[in-house]
Amino acid sequence: MARTAIISDIHANYHALSAVIEDVHAMGCTDLVCLGDIVGYNAYPSECLDLVRKMNCPVVKGNHDEEVVSPFNARMNNVARKAMDWTRSQLDETRLRWLSRLQYQRIVRTDTGTTFSIVHSSLDHPKMWNYIMNASDASNNFPRQFTHVCFHGHTHAPKIFVWDGKHASEDHDNIHPLYLEGFTEFQPLPDLKYFINVGSVGQPRDSDPRASYGIYDTDLNLIIIKRVEYDIGAAKDAVINAELPEYLAERLEKGI
Ligand code: ZN
Repeated sequence: MARTAIISDIHANYHALSAVIEDVHAMGCTDLVCLGDIVGYNAYPSECLDLVRKMNCPVVKGNHDEEVVSPFNARMNNVARKAMDWTRSQLDETRLRWLSRLQYQRIVRTDTGTTFSIVHSSLDHPKMWNYIMNASDASNNFPRQFTHVCFHGHTHAPKIFVWDGKHASEDHDNIHPLYLEGFTEFQPLPDLKYFINVGSVGQPRDSDPRASYGIYDTDLNLIIIKRVEYDIGAAKDAVINAELPEYLAERLEKGI
């Protein structure tokens, strides 16, 4: 059995990460990959980083992982910048060095020989941190995608893009997803390529405050986007106690 969990945008939310890891085990996942933004925004950067390291899994770098090591990104807003400065003060040299060595994109091979790609933003310019919001944005990724499936994060909202060889779309007739309470699942078709945003573990922004992650079952040819309840109150309290901007606590509750 080859069942890989795909987690992204943890953002130092240890309560959300712990709940997701528990769910990953309950869902029978044998492997894990992480799409970056382990740190930033929330109150437990070192704890989340240590837990991901302990998993000994493929990880790619997110813009917050980069920014905390080498500050230069002018596009970061004031709240994010404040949280970033706090985060930098929390991480020791060893952890910063580990973040600095992460790659921007990787191809992962499962035990049963299936390969898929992972990247934080998109494969066309992974260091530019472009936000893939719609099919037009996604059309730049696909010519650089040499695997059937690629997983990404960065926007904090789960989404499925499909490529028929010429055009990118969010065409649900081609995807046939099944939407149920708590998860979405679908079977990828062999002649198409898929670029899948698994949503965010630690700061969802699609108005659903539950943690989000993906599962790729290569035996069943099945992709699942799963939502997980966690102790949002405790995560909010931790943000306030750390004297991080209050808005970062509020948005956890609203999923924005
Ligand atoms: Zn992020």
